Amino acid sequence: MVVQTERDDATWYECETCGLLFDEQSDASEHEKRCDGSDPTYIQ
Ligand SMILES: [Zn+2]
Repeated sequence: MVVQTERDDATWYECETCGLLFDEQSDASEHEKRCDGSDPTYIQ
């Protein structure tokens, strides 16, 4: 699921599965479709 978040006076879109941030909602949505949350590279 993609979550909209405010940070540094900008709007970001966060992949709730892995925590990765995107500046475009479409990018976040595309990522989220492929994200299985199991890649340790993206864990904060
Ligand atoms: Zn993700």
